[in-house]
Amino acid sequence: MFRTTAVVLFLLFGREPLSGQSSGAGGQATALVGGTLVDGTGRGPVSGATVVMRGGRIVCAGSGCAVPAGARRVDVRGKYVIPGLVDGHVHYSQTGWADGRPDALDVRARFPYDSTIASLQAHPERFYRSHLCSGVTATFDVGGYPWTWALREGAERSTAAPHVAAAGPLLSTRDHWVNLPAERQFVHTATDSATRAGARMMAAWESDAIKVWYLVSATSPDTAASKSRIRVAAEEARRAGIPLIVHATSLWAAKDALRAGAKLLVHSVEDVPVDEEFLRLAREAGASYNPTLTVREGYLQLRERRFNPRGLPLECVDPATRAKAFLTDSLPPAGGDNAAIRARAAEGYRLMLANLRRVHAAGIPVVMGTDAGNPLTLHGPSVYREMAAMAEAGLSPMDVLVASTRNGARAMGRTDIGTVERGKVADLVVLDANPLADVANYRRVSRVVRGGKVWTRRELEYR
Ligand SMILES: [Zn+2]
Repeated sequence: MFRTTAVVLFLLFGREPLSGQSSGAGGQATALVGGTLVDGTGRGPVSGATVVMRGGRIVCAGSGCAVPAGARRVDVRGKYVIPGLVDGHVHYSQTGWADGRPDALDVRARFPYDSTIASLQAHPERFYRSHLCSGVTATFDVGGYPWTWALREGAERSTAAPHVAAAGPLLSTRDHWVNLPAERQFVHTATDSATRAGARMMAAWESDAIKVWYLVSATSPDTAASKSRIRVAAEEARRAGIPLIVHATSLWAAKDALRAGAKLLVHSVEDVPVDEEFLRLAREAGASYNPTLTVREGYLQLRERRFNPRGLPLECVDPATRAKAFLTDSLPPAGGDNAAIRARAAEGYRLMLANLRRVHAAGIPVVMGTDAGNPLTLHGPSVYREMAAMAEAGLSPMDVLVASTRNGARAMGRTDIGTVERGKVADLVVLDANPLADVANYRRVSRVVRGGKVWTRRELEYR
């Protein structure tokens, strides 16, 4: 939908909407001068680099770029220039706390669900700012209410928002109840024809993907029916020319999703180690793997009634969301043995790390994605926790960078973002410290550039 509008605006004004907002008068160029460039392609760093931007696009990047006469110069000597980060798994229909997920913890008496969702729809800009503040210039919303599709056009044109791709409502093998009386984010795949109708609706709205919640096992009574449903969804995705993306967390279900033609697995395989057959199926399907290693930590903190931001930059989080996160600590305690639950989760986490290591070593593209919006996985800063976990799994800082930039862009279906190269949209992050020395340095954001507009980190903070 936004692509059509972009073309219309291009015809009307002779240039794309981003440039209309982001370039200075007369299309003045901006040059970031003297930094070390790590461009997101996997190539090694280039010191003493210049990045020249004009009209919202990169016109030259590297050591041989001349600064055009009249360009605005930004001195980034001693700093590091990387592509804007891509969070390949977010949910704008969720808040980052329990109020958006009453199935996890029901706080509706105090935070009515309908008001919560109405506020999310009315004010996506609060999370946009959190994303930019954290260096995130593109996000893939992989499931939510139909209004998430409508976020794309405005975000695309704005230099104060990340690019947004959206999968819209999920096709779910389970009839999940977290919906509104007049609007659904879960479409139950009760029959093949209901699945086809749901998938065709996604295509009609120019969804960026068809997402399936594939909650089955080899032995569940509805296995044969579910297998049929995911094939119908895959067939419709192919017909529409959009990717099938699948939530499948068991090895059996993930393999079956790959056999059906899934292009993106949006969680880890978390029940058993991945095997050779899985790796072969992923390669054959040309699929990417988004492990969401840290979303469970948020759920654990919610259960333990203790929000632990662990050094995350909360100045990038809007005050209302921040206040709710800290409210966690005053909720009445949960029942159950929290220590045992955390111990089991730690075991599961180790398995997810080992599976990521294996998937990555097999050459399957890995995509960084946080599952932000889930309880205590906060839009924006949660990328740092996820990137650190990927490094803990054994990915090098360069591998983490490529997963968090180019690979995420590709998963969103975008080839014009994700790397710092001539012709790409000018989405960049300037860091005060070397990201290849330590993934913790991704937190050291100095400036963020979106569509050629240069923001200081301070301008994006909530103070
Ligand atoms: Zn998710």
